[in-house]
Amino acid sequence: MSREVRVRFAPSPTGALHIGGVRTALYNYLFAKKMGGKFLLRIEDTDQTRFVPGAEEYIKESLEWLGISPVESPWNPGDCGPYRQSERKAMYMQYALDLVEKGHAYYAFDTSEELEAMRERLTAARVVSPQYNSITRTQMKNSLTLPAEEVKARLASGEPYVIRVKIPRNEEVRLNDMIRGWVLVHSSTLDDKVLMKSDGMPTYHLANIVDDHLMTITHVIRGEEWLPSAPLHVLLYRFFGWEDTMPTFAHLPLLLKPDGNGKLSKRDGDKLGFPVFPLNWVDPFSGEKASGFREGGYLPDAFLNFLAFLGWNPGDERELFTLDELVEAFSVERIGKSGTKFDIAKAKWYNEQYLRTKPNSELVDFLTADAKAEGLEVPGDKVEAILNLVKGRVTFPADLWRESKFLISAPTEFDQDVAAKKWNADAAKLLGDYATALDVFEEAFDAATAKSLLESTAESAGIKLGKVMQAVRLAVTGMGGGPDLMEVFAILGTSEVAKRIRFALNTLTIVA
Ligand code: GLU
Repeated sequence: MSREVRVRFAPSPTGALHIGGVRTALYNYLFAKKMGGKFLLRIEDTDQTRFVPGAEEYIKESLEWLGISPVESPWNPGDCGPYRQSERKAMYMQYALDLVEKGHAYYAFDTSEELEAMRERLTAARVVSPQYNSITRTQMKNSLTLPAEEVKARLASGEPYVIRVKIPRNEEVRLNDMIRGWVLVHSSTLDDKVLMKSDGMPTYHLANIVDDHLMTITHVIRGEEWLPSAPLHVLLYRFFGWEDTMPTFAHLPLLLKPDGNGKLSKRDGDKLGFPVFPLNWVDPFSGEKASGFREGGYLPDAFLNFLAFLGWNPGDERELFTLDELVEAFSVERIGKSGTKFDIAKAKWYNEQYLRTKPNSELVDFLTADAKAEGLEVPGDKVEAILNLVKGRVTFPADLWRESKFLISAPTEFDQDVAAKKWNADAAKLLGDYATALDVFEEAFDAATAKSLLESTAESAGIKLGKVMQAVRLAVTGMGGGPDLMEVFAILGTSEVAKRIRFALNTLTIVA
C-alpha cells in the first residue's frame, strides 16, 4: 500500500526566515498539494544557544502572508505532536540508547581539552580535516576503548558524556536524490557525529531522523546545504531498522547572488539594494533591521510566483501562475540541479504583472489610504478611472498614488527643463483658445471629445499640435511625461482643465 505523502518544513528559529527557506517551504507545499498529501511544519530548536525570540512567529506570519500555511504545526497540531523539538526532548534519549545497544553508537567522555589536543595532534601530522572518526576514536575516551566497568562507573558517577554515532569504516553509502540522482559517499569521509549532547539534548541529526520517522515523513525536500549530512541520515535510518520507510530526499539548488558569485546570504539583502527576507525584521539582540518583501510593496501572489521560478520551471513559456496553477504544474523533476541567480528585476516584473491584472476593488484601498495620509481625498466617482489609467504603469501599490496624485491636486510648480524647451508662444496661444473652448463645451467630455476639441482648436489657430503637445501636458500636469493625456483630461473634467491651463498661462513665462 502506498503511503500518504507527508512533507515537512523544518526551520530553526535562529532569526528571520531567509528567502531560500521560504522557497523550501513553498516547494514542500506545492509537492504536498500536488500529491494529495500533507504539508507539516516542525520547529527545530534543539540548539538553544541559537534560539532567537520572535523567530518562530516570524516564520508563521511569513507563511500566512503567502497563503502556504502547514496543516500540522506547533500552532495547529495534528497527531504527531509536539511540533517543537524542545518539547520532544524526553523522546530522543531512548533512540540514542537503542543505537548504543545495537552497536551503532557509543558513549564518549572526552573533554573539550582532549578533543582540542586530538585536533592539534592530527593537524601536526598533516591531516587536512581532523575528525573524530573510525580511526581516531580508537585513541579517545569512549565506550569502545574503555573497559565496560569503567564506562559503567563513569556513567553512574554522573560524568558528562555525549553519544556518538559509530560510522562504519569501509562502506559505500548511497542515496537516490530526486534532483541529483544517485549520490555515493564513502563512509571513511564521514565523522562520528554527536547524536546526544552532554546537556541531554539531541543534535539536529538525531532529532531530525527520529522526528521524520515518527511524523511519517515520506519526502525530505530541503536546501542543498544539507546534502553532506544526507549520507549520515541514510545510515541512521539503516541503524534504526527504518529503511523501509526512509523518506526520499530532494536537495534544492542554492540561491545565488545576482552576479552568480556565491550563495545569496542573509547579509546580502539590503546591501545589494533589495530584501532577502519575506517580512521586515528587527534582531531582538542587536536591534539590526532587515527589510522584507511585504513591506517593500510586493504582492504575496506575485512574490510567490517569482519564488516558484527560482529553481523550477514548468517546461514551457508560461510565467504567470496562481498558487493553484503552480500546484497543478509543479514537479520535482523540473527543479534544476544548478544554483539559481537571484534577479530582483524579475521580482519587480512579477509585481507589475499582478498589479495590472488586479481588479480595482483590490487596489482602491492603497490609493485612498495613501491619499488620506497626505490629507487628500480621491472622489469616489474618479477612483475607477484613475486606477485604470495608472495601474499598468506601476511596480508597487505605493506608486498608484504617486502616479495619480497630480489628478487630485493641481500642479503649483512646473518642470523647469520641459518649460525651458517647450513653453512658447504657440503653446500659450493654443492653450488660451482651448480653455475658452472648454468654458462653453457642452458635449460629454471624454478622451475622444477632449482630443477632437483640442485638434479643432489647433487647426483654427493654425498650430501644429504635435509641436506643442508636451507643453499642453506641462500646463495641465506640471510634468513632461505621464499617462495618456486625453484620459487625464477626461478624469479632470472641462472646468478643472481650463483652470489649470489659466494658472499655467499666468505662471509660466515664455523664454524662447
Ligand atoms: N533545521 C534544519 C534547517 O534549519 C532543517 C534541515 C532539514 O530540513 O532536514 O534548515
